[in-house]
Amino acid sequence: MSTPPSKLPLKPPAWLVGLLCAAAFLGPRAGAQSIQPSGEAVAPSAPSIAAAAILPDVAESQSALDIAKNTTEPRFSSPWVSYVPASSTVPSPTRFFGRIAGAPGELVNAEQAYAYARALAAATPRVKVFTIGRSEEGREIVLMAIADERGMQHLDELKASMASLADPRTLEPSAAERVIDAARPFYYFNAALHSDETGSTESVLELAYRLAVSEQPMIRRIRENLVVLINPVSNPDGRDKQVDWFYRYLKGKTHRETLPRQAPPYWSKYAFVDINRDAHQLTHETTKAVSRMFFDWHPVVIHDLHESVALLMTWNGTGPYNPNIDPIAYSEFQALSFHEVETMTGLGMPGVSTWNFGEGYSFMFMDSIAMNHNAIGRGYETFGNGTAETLVQSLSADETSREWYRVLPPPTGTFSWSARDTVNYNETGALAALDYSAANAKMLLRDFYTKSLHSWRKGLDEAPYAFLIRADQGDPKRVDQLVGRLLAQHIEVGRSVADIVLADGAFPKGTYVVRLDQPYRNYAVDLLQPQHYPKDGGEPYDDVSWELPAYYHLEVEPTADRRIRDASLTRLDAEPHRAGGVTGTGPVFVLKDTGQEGLFEARYRLARYRVNIAESAFTARGVTYPQGSWIIPAQAGVGPALEDVAKSLDLDLASLDSPPAVPMHAARAPRLGVWVPWADTDSIGWVRYSLDQRHIPYTYVRDEDIRAGHLQDKIDVLLYGHVDLEMAEQIQGIPRTWGPMPYMKTAQTPSLGTPASSADITGGIGWTGLGNIQEFIERGGLMITLGNASMLPIEAGIVRGVRRDSGGVPRSSAGGGTAAAAAAQDSVTRTPGVHVRVSFVRATHPIAYGYPPSSYVFRQNFALYSTPRRWLRMAYCTTCLDGPLDPRSVVMQWGGSAGEPFVVSGQAWGEDNLIGRPAILDMPVGLGHVVIFNFNPLYRDMNRGDHRLVWNAILNWQAILAAHQGGA
Ligand SMILES: [Zn+2]
Repeated sequence: MSTPPSKLPLKPPAWLVGLLCAAAFLGPRAGAQSIQPSGEAVAPSAPSIAAAAILPDVAESQSALDIAKNTTEPRFSSPWVSYVPASSTVPSPTRFFGRIAGAPGELVNAEQAYAYARALAAATPRVKVFTIGRSEEGREIVLMAIADERGMQHLDELKASMASLADPRTLEPSAAERVIDAARPFYYFNAALHSDETGSTESVLELAYRLAVSEQPMIRRIRENLVVLINPVSNPDGRDKQVDWFYRYLKGKTHRETLPRQAPPYWSKYAFVDINRDAHQLTHETTKAVSRMFFDWHPVVIHDLHESVALLMTWNGTGPYNPNIDPIAYSEFQALSFHEVETMTGLGMPGVSTWNFGEGYSFMFMDSIAMNHNAIGRGYETFGNGTAETLVQSLSADETSREWYRVLPPPTGTFSWSARDTVNYNETGALAALDYSAANAKMLLRDFYTKSLHSWRKGLDEAPYAFLIRADQGDPKRVDQLVGRLLAQHIEVGRSVADIVLADGAFPKGTYVVRLDQPYRNYAVDLLQPQHYPKDGGEPYDDVSWELPAYYHLEVEPTADRRIRDASLTRLDAEPHRAGGVTGTGPVFVLKDTGQEGLFEARYRLARYRVNIAESAFTARGVTYPQGSWIIPAQAGVGPALEDVAKSLDLDLASLDSPPAVPMHAARAPRLGVWVPWADTDSIGWVRYSLDQRHIPYTYVRDEDIRAGHLQDKIDVLLYGHVDLEMAEQIQGIPRTWGPMPYMKTAQTPSLGTPASSADITGGIGWTGLGNIQEFIERGGLMITLGNASMLPIEAGIVRGVRRDSGGVPRSSAGGGTAAAAAAQDSVTRTPGVHVRVSFVRATHPIAYGYPPSSYVFRQNFALYSTPRRWLRMAYCTTCLDGPLDPRSVVMQWGGSAGEPFVVSGQAWGEDNLIGRPAILDMPVGLGHVVIFNFNPLYRDMNRGDHRLVWNAILNWQAILAAHQGGA
């Protein structure tokens, strides 16, 4: 379209502008870029093409042409984003970066994105920049705020209005209306959480510019009715690693079939994809920054930008829906999504869909920070290439069918997709969402207030009225940590200053009380009561239980007695710390094992001292000490060291004149190694996180370290955490055909090489490495495998006699399921992130220390393994049968006592085929042992109550190695 904007009618209706602009694309594809199957761009033969700017905007010179050139098909764009408005004072992305957003083969890193954000802020009063955090590697995390001048002048008042709407206890509905009159909603976009989904940063930078300078009516309305918040690089560590990786390995490569691995092995110090599974625990700096932002601004929407589904999926889940989210939120996110589908479909953009993604039951994701706190959490899965280059793509039949939720399907056959296409979709969708929000600003504010009001009123009007948490139970430190986790979510917790007597029972002074007449009552109920995912609810996207008491192995008691409101409480503003101590004056010390997780850290802090662990219960000075209790013999200097450890780790020790007469074993702190395969660092990142939080020294063991062998010279215990890898991938790693693939800090790749580096991350451990692991164990090493990692010893034959049975699904095949995919699976054993019962078969095994004989753990989908046999049939013949069962190595099995329901929280399917199978095996191999978990006891810093099982295996490594099979 070559018509200059001034020749158009003064204010053309949007539909006409749409047609005019679309017409620019409808002629022969002379101007639009044509992409050959090789992906190589061909220069347009007629340079006259340009989309009309929407009046009164004037298009920046060349912008429409550049955008058209880099959009692979006209229908993959919209009039809203087909030009960049010109400004004489504010730098456009092109003027700043020398290219349009989404230009092929280019990506901005965090520093460049922030420099642009600050250049915008310096050039216009409509943009401000704030620092909301620092990443683990020290990078800034930045927030942009964009509105008209009036909005920007009153940001503090607008924030105060939102804070008051968030707490209806201090705001009557009539007063709320007056606040709503003067307020406007904040709408927050989160970009670059998943690092290989690269298009969102480019999209929101151009969006920020457009919002700041465009004078077209829709944008003015957005600017005057909303404040748009943009976090352009929410995970800057990952962004910078990905950008370095792109320029080192992907730039210029346009053949999808021959692309090398598209992401570096790390996206942050600890997490990879799981950085988006941190809403409940807030462990990563990225999540903490967004959480801080939320409670500072109270945006009505957190909108998280991802890439995967063609061509744009606006999330809201297929159901079931979580009953602890206010129903208004579900209507709101459906309305927003349908508005986007309708608008973008109306603009002629194919493949915009909703509904068919996730379930709407679990809110553990970044956007869930909003959903769990009475705002709206939502997001996009936009189509992306995982690279900034243009690729030829094709979709499967079930991605291109016409459905009610996908009214204009994506293209069939092959088509080219560019980085600019991703920007066009993201930005058009974002503008549709903002347009809707601006038009409905008062409704969104009123809904936000109403949801908060409902949540508070429920706690006033409906039982339970409070949860009570006794301070003196099991692991008292873990009680403090649970309270700390609630406080981090702005759930109010008080502590009783006197005994409380209720119809439900008596609670001593010092009991923690979560009164439910508070605005975040719904979230408190969701976290503190069991989940009941419906059996016919279809395949969940991720976990179906997040009940904190089950994760922490603590009792949290609801009360239906309203008199709890009369209890005198001290409100807590920080995680409590109950310091332990040492009593008595004798030279020998004892520590009663009540399941304290802190024993693990204590042992390493006391590494210089001798510690023995009791193998059965004993009594001393009238106190009964269960198995697992510590006996610390008289030795120089140990007293002050114990005082220090007791205080900081909340442990209570007593002294005796002489050691008790009880069987005990020495428990030297082992040299611990943690193997992190280059092919999957994600779940083991959480293992490293848990170890680091507890200040446990360990050796980071890379694939090449295992290939090099002599493991026994460096470590005593090899911990191999859960990996989402099949066995061939566990052994052979990243394909050698991509090698050598250095992951190192260099001048060209300054962000690579942390937290570990390698001259070549391909090739895995190989058969050599597998042999070295076997040698390590046979020479007397202890290997501990968690989750899918247990495939390696069992199915590669390091241990013998255990068969993998059909009927289970490995973790790597679960998740992300659609409703349709779930239907056929009802007979398959599935525990997709649920709390289920277990029982110790060997209740005196060191792994059982601190636990009752019948307990429960958190389990995801893992393979099913049989009870070991003496031998397994190796060939078919009439007499070659399986050997007899050999259950001696079964430490724990699935299922509790008779009559107990298997599921504690969540849901299970086909559990009859799981109950009675081994949950933990301790199998001797040569002089060593392998301890095998059929679940992941070190999971996302959530299942703290399961951690001790692993810590027990590590602390008692010598006892485990010394035991003859079945003798422990
Ligand atoms: Zn993602």
